[in-house]
Amino acid sequence: MAGNKEAILRRKKKRAIRKAMDIISAVLVFALFSFAVGYPLAIGMNNIDPLSGKDIDYSVQQPAVPDNGSVVTDASPAPTESIYESVAVKNDEIYKGELILVNSSYPFQSAADANITPLFEKKTDSYSVSGMHISMQEEAIPYLNSMLDDFYSATAHNDILIVDGYRTLEEQQALYDADLELTGLTTSTLVAKPGHSEHETGYALDFSLFFPDGTSGEYDGTGDYDWIDQHCSDYGYILRYPEDKTELTDIQYESWHYRYVGRPHAYYIMQSGICLEEYISELNEYSVDAPMEIIDSNGAAYEVYFVPADTDSDVTHIPVKPDADYSVSGNNIDGFIVTIDLHETRELVSYTKPVEEVTGITTDEYGNVVTTDSTYITASDTTTTTTVEAVG
Ligand SMILES: [Zn+2]
Repeated sequence: MAGNKEAILRRKKKRAIRKAMDIISAVLVFALFSFAVGYPLAIGMNNIDPLSGKDIDYSVQQPAVPDNGSVVTDASPAPTESIYESVAVKNDEIYKGELILVNSSYPFQSAADANITPLFEKKTDSYSVSGMHISMQEEAIPYLNSMLDDFYSATAHNDILIVDGYRTLEEQQALYDADLELTGLTTSTLVAKPGHSEHETGYALDFSLFFPDGTSGEYDGTGDYDWIDQHCSDYGYILRYPEDKTELTDIQYESWHYRYVGRPHAYYIMQSGICLEEYISELNEYSVDAPMEIIDSNGAAYEVYFVPADTDSDVTHIPVKPDADYSVSGNNIDGFIVTIDLHETRELVSYTKPVEEVTGITTDEYGNVVTTDSTYITASDTTTTTTVEAVG
């Protein structure tokens, strides 16, 4: 029995040794295989961003920027924060986009725009245009159509006539010269200087009225037409030259002049009662790390932030979160405004500014007037202190 037991033990030992040898050879084969195949594989595939899972091509030192200057995805990580991807945008793009600020301080300096489209080609039957030359930025036309279709549904008015849209620099110059000739002055107080009219951007429109009996009238935005001022921001439009902002806009109150800035910017501007000058300046405070959050009238949530142009380069690397649905517009001054559609619905927020910021009236936390200070500005004060009046 003992010999038998020994034989069994010996066999067991042999089996264990064979098993160990098998394991060692398997490990060796695996190691060799890993070295032969895995090493070059590892070298070649090292350029996957562990956060985004996207390819990073380290061989590309300078990101490719197409000649047309449009936005391209940048392969290199953002210089500031590794959790962001970056998008390379040509610095010329500062002067383009629906948020560019054009006024007496900042001229329009972009070249002729291929996206300028005659309204009659795309318009609906809810309004008319004063000629086939009336045109604007193509992207803004569907929103104009929706706005005036809904205005017609709400009020049965289809008598809005669009009398002005995109103007070339030459057209603005002609308007300006004609005004000088009429007044005999050396500068115009009515027509914006050539290069400084928002109409040159193709994002602005002037409304008038044309009635079914063939008569026309001035569009003053009152009565049924107040619907437009109450709802235009839902379609990305703002009343560009409000009565209480003439000192900031340098343009007299224009009840007829609307400007497309896109959602959600229009909503924030109209709800908070500020003008585009104030909005562009307010946005300077918001960065990719601390963006402004805007919830529009439908509860749709957006993030908005400013990225200063990189003046040491021809290109600015704009940080964006991976997979964000973003758009970029220049501000026509010194940088870019990024808008992220979060594709989320949130609770509505009131953007109405506290009364004292607008009129000098002090309110308590519930918005009730508690004191009236001496800086209160009446409507007549505002109009009398306006020194520069110009037709945009
Ligand atoms: Zn105008």
